[in-house]
Amino acid sequence: MRIQFLGGVETVTGSQHLVEAGGRRVLRDCGLFQGKRDEARAINTRLSCPPAALDAVVLSHAHIDHCGNLPSLARAGYAGPIHATTATVALAGVMLRDAARIQEQDAAYLNQKANRQGLPAVAPLYTAADAEAALKLFQGHRYGDTIEPAPGIRVLFQDAGHILGAAVNVFELAEDGRQARVGFAVDLGRKDLPIIRDPESMRDLDLLVLESTYGDRLHDEATRAEDELGTAINRTLARGGKVLIPSFALERAQELLYHLANLFSSGRVRQVPVYLDSPMAVELTQIFGRHSDYFDAETQALLAQLGSILRPDWVHFSSTVEESKKITASDEPCVIIAPNGMCEHGRILHHLKHGVGNPANTILIVGFQAANTLGRRLVERAPRVKIFGDEFVRRAEVLTLNAFSAHADRNDLLAYVRQVQPRRIALVHGEPKIRAALAQALRAMQSAPVLEPQTGEVVEL
Ligand SMILES: [Zn+2]
Repeated sequence: MRIQFLGGVETVTGSQHLVEAGGRRVLRDCGLFQGKRDEARAINTRLSCPPAALDAVVLSHAHIDHCGNLPSLARAGYAGPIHATTATVALAGVMLRDAARIQEQDAAYLNQKANRQGLPAVAPLYTAADAEAALKLFQGHRYGDTIEPAPGIRVLFQDAGHILGAAVNVFELAEDGRQARVGFAVDLGRKDLPIIRDPESMRDLDLLVLESTYGDRLHDEATRAEDELGTAINRTLARGGKVLIPSFALERAQELLYHLANLFSSGRVRQVPVYLDSPMAVELTQIFGRHSDYFDAETQALLAQLGSILRPDWVHFSSTVEESKKITASDEPCVIIAPNGMCEHGRILHHLKHGVGNPANTILIVGFQAANTLGRRLVERAPRVKIFGDEFVRRAEVLTLNAFSAHADRNDLLAYVRQVQPRRIALVHGEPKIRAALAQALRAMQSAPVLEPQTGEVVEL
């Protein structure tokens, strides 16, 4: 019985773990490695485990760094089952089709260049057809279900409290009369997030594989997000401005709609039009609406009270570019939620170009912005920013809200270990320095032995 750490080990992208017992193999997650183009291409093309050797795949959730390389697995001939919660199955459909579109566009762009230089054509990492092939293999389960994807390997799905449908899994392994229990809390969410329930605890683990993304820092309490959002909107509306929010399409956009429903219905914020300017976010929001059985008690109650929290009449879903342009041109006070993309591409750029110079407006940052992106320049409140090649003076207020995060912070991770009391811990899914800081904090509280595996390393059970 063994675990091999294949991806997303000393980094937060490309999560993959191989679980083996009695000669059977189950892959937990098959995430896309996202980074510099050539490095990403090399890592994503080289499948660490040949598809023919796999009995099954267990998928934790629909974030691309966990599900985004499943089409490569299907492209390489994998035809076994992919097990996930029913909500993850639905969300992954949208995410993987979008990922395939990006891969195809990327290859087309490279091929234009290759063509000019007389170089051989590049094939996309995977195509829409590969994504569809992978999606055909999905099987939906519920929290609390235990499945047996291969003889000697049983898997329990529990709520990760991370995004809709996200699961932490306990693998119960059996081999030659011996047993081992391995828990995967990768990714692990945090308590009090809107819409979804809090993370569930696991019990009696020989090994806990735990993420360490924010192992060295603390977020603001999730419960503060709504008040901070309300204050920022009120200040902007008092100035007659627009609130521009670059947002991830999955979970964060729906969280924002939930908070807005609360703020408007309680009268804390004057009701203004809200534009969800992202076809993908619109599609994902519809899926949320169909999975209200995954909602927590507060959200169920709000839903019963208001009838609709994600599709009320003040939300305008814009799917076409024409609709998007109309919103940009209008000067009415409103809230615009547009795809994040670190503000490097997509519809948010048009809104920013039109709105960044107006001191009445607020640009609200509610998600991670990587170095060397326009999003980061805004977070740093740069006085001038470049959009579509032109320089603009930034007069709009920029506000970063740190209460928004779907990941456990250092204290959440330590509390989780205290609650679960595993016999060994393996830290993954974190930059090396951050992971080391969490390992040190765990050792300081005299937890079970802490491993910091390298990519490719095997732990025997
Ligand atoms: Zn995630």
